[in-house]
Amino acid sequence: MLDKEFNEIELDGEGLASVVFIDEAGGLSSDQKRALMGGKGASLAEMATTLSLPVPPAFTITTEVCRTYLSMGWPVDLDETLKVAVAGLEERTGRRLGDPSNPLLLSVRSGAAISMPGMMDTVLNLGLNDDTTTGLAGATDERFALDSHRRFVQSFADVVLRVDAPLAEVVASAVKKAGVEREADLSVEAMAALLGDLRAIVDATPGAVLPTDPFEQLRTAVAAVFDSWMGDRAIEYRKIEGIDGDIGTACTIQVMIFGNRDDASGSGVVFTRDPSTGEDRLTGDFLPNAQGEDVVAGTHSTLTIDDFNRSMPELGAELDRVLACLEGHYRDMCDVEFTVEKGRLYILQCRVGKRTAGAALRIATQLVDDPGVTLSQAEAVVRITPDHLSQILYAGFSEIDIPELTSGLGASPGAAVGRAYMTTDGAIDAVDRGEQVILVRRETSPDDVAAMAVVEGILTSHGGLVSHAAVVARGWGTPCVCGADQVEVADDHFRVGDVVVSEGDMISIDGSTGSVTLGGRDVVKSVVPPELDSILAWADEIASDTLAVRANADTAEDAVAARNAGAIGIGLCRTEHMFLSSDRLPLVRAMILAETTEAETEALEQLATAQQADFEGILEAMDGLPVTVRLLDPPLHEFLPDIGDLVAAEARGELDSEGMALLKSARYWTEVNPMIGTRGVRLAHLRPGLYRMQARALCSAVMARRAAGGKPLVEIMVPLTVSGPELAVAVQWIRESATEVGMMESPPVGTMIETPRAALLAGELARYADFFSVGSNDLTQLTYGFSRDDVEGRFMDLYLKKGLLEHNPFEHLDESGVGELVDLAVERGRNVNPSLKVGVCGEHAGDPRSIPRLLAAGVDYLSCSPARLPTARLASAHAVQESTSPALRRLER
Ligand code: PEP
Ligand code: MG
Repeated sequence: MLDKEFNEIELDGEGLASVVFIDEAGGLSSDQKRALMGGKGASLAEMATTLSLPVPPAFTITTEVCRTYLSMGWPVDLDETLKVAVAGLEERTGRRLGDPSNPLLLSVRSGAAISMPGMMDTVLNLGLNDDTTTGLAGATDERFALDSHRRFVQSFADVVLRVDAPLAEVVASAVKKAGVEREADLSVEAMAALLGDLRAIVDATPGAVLPTDPFEQLRTAVAAVFDSWMGDRAIEYRKIEGIDGDIGTACTIQVMIFGNRDDASGSGVVFTRDPSTGEDRLTGDFLPNAQGEDVVAGTHSTLTIDDFNRSMPELGAELDRVLACLEGHYRDMCDVEFTVEKGRLYILQCRVGKRTAGAALRIATQLVDDPGVTLSQAEAVVRITPDHLSQILYAGFSEIDIPELTSGLGASPGAAVGRAYMTTDGAIDAVDRGEQVILVRRETSPDDVAAMAVVEGILTSHGGLVSHAAVVARGWGTPCVCGADQVEVADDHFRVGDVVVSEGDMISIDGSTGSVTLGGRDVVKSVVPPELDSILAWADEIASDTLAVRANADTAEDAVAARNAGAIGIGLCRTEHMFLSSDRLPLVRAMILAETTEAETEALEQLATAQQADFEGILEAMDGLPVTVRLLDPPLHEFLPDIGDLVAAEARGELDSEGMALLKSARYWTEVNPMIGTRGVRLAHLRPGLYRMQARALCSAVMARRAAGGKPLVEIMVPLTVSGPELAVAVQWIRESATEVGMMESPPVGTMIETPRAALLAGELARYADFFSVGSNDLTQLTYGFSRDDVEGRFMDLYLKKGLLEHNPFEHLDESGVGELVDLAVERGRNVNPSLKVGVCGEHAGDPRSIPRLLAAGVDYLSCSPARLPTARLASAHAVQESTSPALRRLER
């Protein structure tokens, strides 16, 4: 990932690239900055250099050092490098680490190339001991110095010493005991006592030693930050988000700015747009006389950004300018951490903000129109992920007049119903038992992510719109209500006033409105944001000439839905689905049971009439767009009653003569492996009248549509072919049928590629085919020899758990095995018939993960179920974009 040349760069004689000062990183490319300095270091560097924003001095120990540390331990020269780097900070600030008269204090923060909010560790106010605290008190004031020292002890004990004690509760009870609102209000004496309590807990913890030497504090804090890359919650998050575990984290060491300095100080977090709705307005929280951790922990009641603007109008205006500059630079919504110290504004962090899917759509389209940003349409398309689309169909509740139990902030939209569990373990166990769960917590912390990833919804009693619960839930599209402050959470129940909700009781939460109700409510799907149409139209502009998306649709209704959902044709119309309705089934059975040619012909004629009407409906709905109709495919026994039922009925003497005939027929057609039995074109060779009838009905429908002034474009497809001659005969039937009904030309005829032999002998099949459509469901089944109806319920889970398979090949295309067969089919088919069109109509055609591989194989179009159309259109555009201009990568968020 890192280019070798860069690793050898020397930076202003400060040593090798193991340490980079943010104000000296101007010569690095954005990619180099991000890879070496992590997202946090890179953004600090950009703000300090390119944007000249007020950023406290800092340097970053690179990810390269972290990787070395994790594989080989503390590098021998790192102490020296750190000393030189700290001297650089001392030079920039005129203060010295450990100087008792005017100490330099530092923050030590993690930050990987890909943002993992809250998953790794941070140590703040580093550099304090008894001497420096006294010095700091002399230079500032005592309350502040003691507050900073107790914050240092608390974060060092937690992150570096891993003291297993409820330190936050000790702080909370000191506040309660003093009868004040929050820590900032504690008297000097109470603060000193609290500091003493925290130190006593550390001293009583075996093996925990709080170093007094500030440099030793720094060394151990850096090691702890690197170690946190391998912490359980970081590993869990990477697994869920698919982040490479080898890249490591950078560690940024920055001069502390004190939001807890006094009442003209404070800390805030602000989004440049509303991350829930995408609305173009600043959204965030501010806490006077506090450090940033107090804001994001969700443990304090914060002010809004509007309140901040009102209380500090000049700073509000300055912040506005900074945010506009950041949005223009990153060309996206930013999530910014800032601190005010004695009336001066500092920016501590900026990253592209997490957002809901609806907000992502709205922001991407807004930025295309924003003259300050002018995002291209292609950039807007790549910023929307398939995951966003799966989230946008936010569910809501059908009834609205249900009395509320309580309410909080609608932090991540969507409706969720489930049983309340108040602990992470309880929630996970319940999900494992198959229950739908709402996780109810006072606030969430990164330790809860394993549960947060699997529950239906999250309810917290504390924290605002940028609290951990809100940010994580929004990123994952999990409905979440935050800050429902009437909720008192215990381990096995929660209480709202007199109402007690026990573990396992059903509740409903609405992450859009913030409402919480008792019992399970009916959930209904929501309306898709109108911006989706623009994004998908732009996606089509990118992809439709290269990898167009059609729909699988079997009825006129499906065809209408498919056309409305943007399908540019039907790639698979399964005609057998037309035979399953109650009025058609007797006709099919009559055809199967026919013992004479006349009886068979009569049944087929009746079916032809019914089918023609169906085809006309579909062709009308798709007028002017191609419709690929597949002739009958599944085994005939699917049209007969269950043989077991028939045998039982016979035993009870309940079968009449028709029943007896059905039983006889069912016995005749029963097969040991019906999926590899008399299916598809094989059945047609046994009953030659069948495909002729279907082709006649279809061609007659074409003629009727033409007579009505329509423009029907039909393509006929033969399923489950394995040999050229088998296909050649079927093509002949179709041509003759077209002529019979007076069609001047034969419609295009193609075949499905569903068997490994068809793929291997694609050259032979291409002699008779105008197009191929890859049936990747059967092709997967037959390539693996896995019954598609059985294995997922039997051994698939086991195989996945044991790592015997990387993934379920019915869900994502097996790129190396089945993928190679698709490559061969395309290549060998086109060698013989260069104008051969190739589509894919198995489930993989709607799977975003499979689509790039299908594009690479050279297919021309995809065909998927209407519900998956938006995702497939988007994924197709991403794949085409990626293959034509890989530089335009999706922004990580
Ligand atoms: C396939 O096999 O991929 C296919 C589309 O056909 P069916 O699922 O109907 O067998
Ligand atoms: Mg098939």
